[in-house]
Amino acid sequence: MASASMQGLQGKVALVTGATSGIGAAAAEGLAERGAHVLVAGRDAARGEAVVSAIRKPGGRADFVRADLGDAQAVRRLAHDALGLGGDRVDVLVNNAGIYPFGPTEDTEEGLFDTVYALNVKAPFYLVAELAPMMADRGGGSIVNVSTIAAALGVSGMALYGSSKAALNLLTKAWAAEYGARGVRVNAVQVGPTRTETTAQAEEDLQSLAAQAPAGRPASAAEIAAAIVYLADDAASSFVQGAVLPVDGGRTAV
Ligand code: NAP
Repeated sequence: MASASMQGLQGKVALVTGATSGIGAAAAEGLAERGAHVLVAGRDAARGEAVVSAIRKPGGRADFVRADLGDAQAVRRLAHDALGLGGDRVDVLVNNAGIYPFGPTEDTEEGLFDTVYALNVKAPFYLVAELAPMMADRGGGSIVNVSTIAAALGVSGMALYGSSKAALNLLTKAWAAEYGARGVRVNAVQVGPTRTETTAQAEEDLQSLAAQAPAGRPASAAEIAAAIVYLADDAASSFVQGAVLPVDGGRTAV
């Protein structure tokens, strides 16, 4: 377990969506290492419980909370369940759950369009609607949205996905304006190609996307999680509000 000096999130409750895999699982572990009680959200209970066990083993605190974030009602239920498990508080919200199907605009079925926007835009929107006012009432909190370089660059085949995350980038700033004066910091990480359970299934695409950045390699989930933990932790990033932080090996700088 982390040393006492690393316990900047001691006593805080952190809800991480999509924490059963990849970047979300790494963020859950990173937040727990700093002392947070982490609520691991996702659909897959077996993978969720594995993340919870990995956190509990060295003495961390975590619970799995099942949620399929397909519609606003389910999102509101997750907020309710999270508050129940967290003792009526959620101090940190990481909007990480997301899907990233790629393909030509003309081949995109309406159902897929709606699914991507439901998970990547509507779910964060209604989680913030439920939880940010409560954070403000308690005097503060931190919200971290997980975005992508495809939200900042025009990439062929990423119109649907990139546009959904561009909405999330704007929401990051709008929510910083809406809740920032009441102590709720809202920021985003704008992530470059990262090796996770999903992207590792298309290793060639991952490598060729990564080759376009100065770093020249994909990130590990832990490298992205480190930035999420930084933005979640008031002690580390107290004056950072409304920022969309590129964590992309330099891709959007060149
Ligand atoms: P991943 O390994 O595919 O994991 C996605 C997570 O989202 C899983 O925990 C999954 O949990 C959850 N999820 C999927 N559909 C859901 C639904 N309907 N309801 C609730 N949860 C759902 O993803 P990742 O690669 O770590 O990416 C995480 C985030 O980073 C995404 O927002 C993605 O857009 C962003 N990002 C990733 C990369 C990259 O290269 N990997 C780059 C830029 C940005 P269950 O299956 O248990 O539901």
